[in-house]
Amino acid sequence: MKTPNTTLSAVPTTIFTRMSQLAVQYQAVNLGQGFPDTEGPADIVAYAAQALQDQRNQYAPLTGLPELREAVAESNERFYGLKINPTTEVVVTSGATEALAASLTAVINPGDEVVLIEPLYDTYLPMIRLLGAVPKCVRLEPPSWELPLEALKAAFGPKTKAILLNSPMNPAGKVFSHEELSVIADLVREHDVYAICDEVYEHLTFHVKHCPLMTFPGMRERCMRIGSAGKSFSLTGWKVGYVTAPAPLADLIAKAHQLYVFATAPNLQRAVAYGLRKDDAYYQELASSLEERRDLLRDGLHALGFKTLPADGSYFVVADITPLAKGQDDVAFAEWLVREAGVATIPVSAFYDASSAEPPRNLIRFAFCKQPDVLKEALKRLKAALG
Ligand code: PMP
Ligand code: GLN
Repeated sequence: MKTPNTTLSAVPTTIFTRMSQLAVQYQAVNLGQGFPDTEGPADIVAYAAQALQDQRNQYAPLTGLPELREAVAESNERFYGLKINPTTEVVVTSGATEALAASLTAVINPGDEVVLIEPLYDTYLPMIRLLGAVPKCVRLEPPSWELPLEALKAAFGPKTKAILLNSPMNPAGKVFSHEELSVIADLVREHDVYAICDEVYEHLTFHVKHCPLMTFPGMRERCMRIGSAGKSFSLTGWKVGYVTAPAPLADLIAKAHQLYVFATAPNLQRAVAYGLRKDDAYYQELASSLEERRDLLRDGLHALGFKTLPADGSYFVVADITPLAKGQDDVAFAEWLVREAGVATIPVSAFYDASSAEPPRNLIRFAFCKQPDVLKEALKRLKAALG
């Protein structure tokens, strides 16, 4: 038989699935895959349940239900002062994952280059390669997760079509500063490229403000800004995402969505529209309760001898394992931890393009979007195993 798609064949099963399987096998506390271990807000879930009963269970419109597109436009204005046309500038997708694929598809031709910042979310590289484009990666420098500006500038060239920027960032927990975003916006303008902005953790920041690149001068017509109900409402299983983009790009994103998925569950869309209109107290509580859990886990890790890297947003904190790993690399140590300590984590080397340069092998990612008692149990187990 002829060889099937070689790019896809080379993609391993995601590290999240692998570590979650090991977590089940060893009955481990799962601080690997990033999902909350409680239900999302009861009123949003009740709204969705009600919406299932009222006879609107056929295909939703291609670009999303008007009420959700309107709620996305409103929330752009409410949080960032962005004025968005809900009819022409919002596309609802089946999760941010599809939003990323559709946005990349909207702008990329084979042979284009896409600038990325490592460590990066695991779907980016294979998606870009499947479209025939060439990733150009720039690495944040641990332990401060500093953005090397000269390397970033050097990554842009005549073939660059887009940058894919994730802020707040998975797995680094970095929230890009205003100054860094200004430099990125300058490069995007100077090289006349697009920016795909993965902002799924937009509401999960701790005493730093998330700033969409789209709010910077000249960026409104070039940015595709992606959000996820999974993250904003702790409902990761719902897979409802949304892209805000200027009309000509939104039109192409809608065409990609038409080919990949066509339409997203209408009942969930309606409940997400309701959720997006929640009051400020909801969003503040979401961030502050996560921050408390970041602190609980981070302080506990420090007490065990781990050093942690700055984490101002997202579900994740990265720890340097050097003092405790007895020479094991991140993969071996994470496997040892799940087996011997009963705690699942994610080795951070999985978030790098290992084919271009050796990734750091001394970092693991902990998810703190879990209940405080679960985090305490994980710390207890780590203490027992690490002594
Ligand atoms: N981007 C990032 C940075 C993520 O961490 C995730 C997963 N949580 C996604 C995109 C995918 O989001 P969704 O579940 O809405 O597809
Ligand atoms: N975004 C989640 C994480 O980083 C995982 C999502 C998935 O399993 N695909 O842990």
